[in-house]
Amino acid sequence: MSTRELSLDDRLGLDKYEIDEEHSHIQVDQSLCLRCQLRPCLTVCPAAVYVAVDGEIVARYENCLECGTCQIACDTGGQGGITWNPPQGGFGIVFRYG
Ligand code: SF4
Ligand code: SF4
Repeated sequence: MSTRELSLDDRLGLDKYEIDEEHSHIQVDQSLCLRCQLRPCLTVCPAAVYVAVDGEIVARYENCLECGTCQIACDTGGQGGITWNPPQGGFGIVFRYG
């Protein structure tokens, strides 16, 4: 039997998302983002959740891997515009590969 190492994309593809269609677990305060020079949210998220649309920061929360990186980056290198809470019970990502 042969084995092969899975790529990161392969591993993430095994995960399952239970999306809360009615509530985002991420809120972004646009008034703080307006003063943000670095906008680290746009580069640190491994799932590219944050995008700039017409000058505003949009969080595509359904793709979140729940790593917490964005909150730290926003608080330390940004203006603290992100409020991140764990998804409500039963929602969010279910990791299937470690
Ligand atoms: S890092 Fe925080 S404050 Fe800066 S643009 Fe992103 S969400 Fe807004
Ligand atoms: S918790 Fe991690 S995956 Fe989710 S939005 Fe923040 S940086 Fe991206």
